[in-house]
Amino acid sequence: MSDKSNAFSTNPVRSTMLPYGQQWIDEQDIEAVVEVLKGDMITQGPAIEAFENKVAAYVGAKYAVAFTNGTAALHGACFAAGIGEEDEVITTPITFLASSNCVLYQGGTPVFADIDMNTYNLDPAMIELKITERTKAIIAVDFTGQPVEIDRISMLARDRQLVLIQDAAHSLGASFGGRKIGSWADMTMFSFHPVKHVTTGEGGIITTDNEEYYRKLMLFRSHGVTKIPGELTKNDGPWYYEMQELGYNYRMTDLQAALGVSQMDKLDDFIARRREIVSMYNERLSNIPGVIIPIQHPKAESSWHLYVIRIEPTCSQGSRREWFEALRAEGIGVNVHYIPVYLQPFYKKMGYQPGLCENAEHYYETAITLPLFPKMSNSDVDDVVAAIVKVSKRFS
Ligand SMILES: *Cc1c(COP(=O)(O)O)cnc(C)c1O
Repeated sequence: MSDKSNAFSTNPVRSTMLPYGQQWIDEQDIEAVVEVLKGDMITQGPAIEAFENKVAAYVGAKYAVAFTNGTAALHGACFAAGIGEEDEVITTPITFLASSNCVLYQGGTPVFADIDMNTYNLDPAMIELKITERTKAIIAVDFTGQPVEIDRISMLARDRQLVLIQDAAHSLGASFGGRKIGSWADMTMFSFHPVKHVTTGEGGIITTDNEEYYRKLMLFRSHGVTKIPGELTKNDGPWYYEMQELGYNYRMTDLQAALGVSQMDKLDDFIARRREIVSMYNERLSNIPGVIIPIQHPKAESSWHLYVIRIEPTCSQGSRREWFEALRAEGIGVNVHYIPVYLQPFYKKMGYQPGLCENAEHYYETAITLPLFPKMSNSDVDDVVAAIVKVSKRFS
């Protein structure tokens, strides 16, 4: 190993590691959870509906159904869409595993389409090339918080009669063409994992305008059981319930929902702070040799979950790995999002081959995620920039 890639620095920019993402919980959040703990209902009580209503109203959707986590919510969406063993579902390889695992849960086949090298999002033209007679749905992911070209993709889905599911785990509060993400697709998923925009510890939600999907999602998250009189095939009495589908226990607790309600009050401030940090990064990193900063589609208004830079081997003497290790050695908790899903051993065993999506693989070899979360101070931002300047000088 050359001394350029030393895993420690004798005089690091930071002595403690700055994480790439982190939640922001305040006293109001804590009190909201304690209130639920002191009450009678700690799961499936009134906080769940309050949280669902709040998220639905925020994104401009008719219905919202909360789940234990975003992955379970995606599973629910695949169930509601009717995805089964004969079906193919098109998605991106540059995403978290859950975006395509949810298709496997239903016995369907994920089909990976390549990304656009400017936005790193699914390229609508590449989606179109992958449509076959078996295609049932598209799962479009708003990678980093920048919405996909949802206008083109929803037109395509309508023309080809495909169900459109938007994995908006990164993009709560983002808009495309002035319209919030959450009602564009047939179903939209948001995650409340601690690194996401607002948190419930673990949590997820599906928003939809479609009553039929709403009903199916409600059944799916609670064993497939209903007690609603109008939905029963018969009625033996006031105790009576029916299992009508094979559902799961995917219910969120009231403790989590109460935290979610309280966190939603801060969402716009969190996003504003994320955007502030991003404009500092954009301004101060735009002329660093070897570093490519993120490019935005003119209609996309990102809510900035992640800030990803790329290290092009043609512009820098250091490789991505050397940059990564050098930044970590400076106390900057950089990360990589994501390894193309189909390169995972489990997917390879199913027959997916390297080379399937060339842009995605090139992206993966060059990407580094910088720290970005609302609680970051300006001096944290200074540290990240100082570390990048330092490393870039070493590699120039
Ligand atoms: C976080 C995330 C999920 C899954 O959410 P969980 O709440 O962690 O289950 C799905 N897709 C993407 C793109 C994510 O980032």
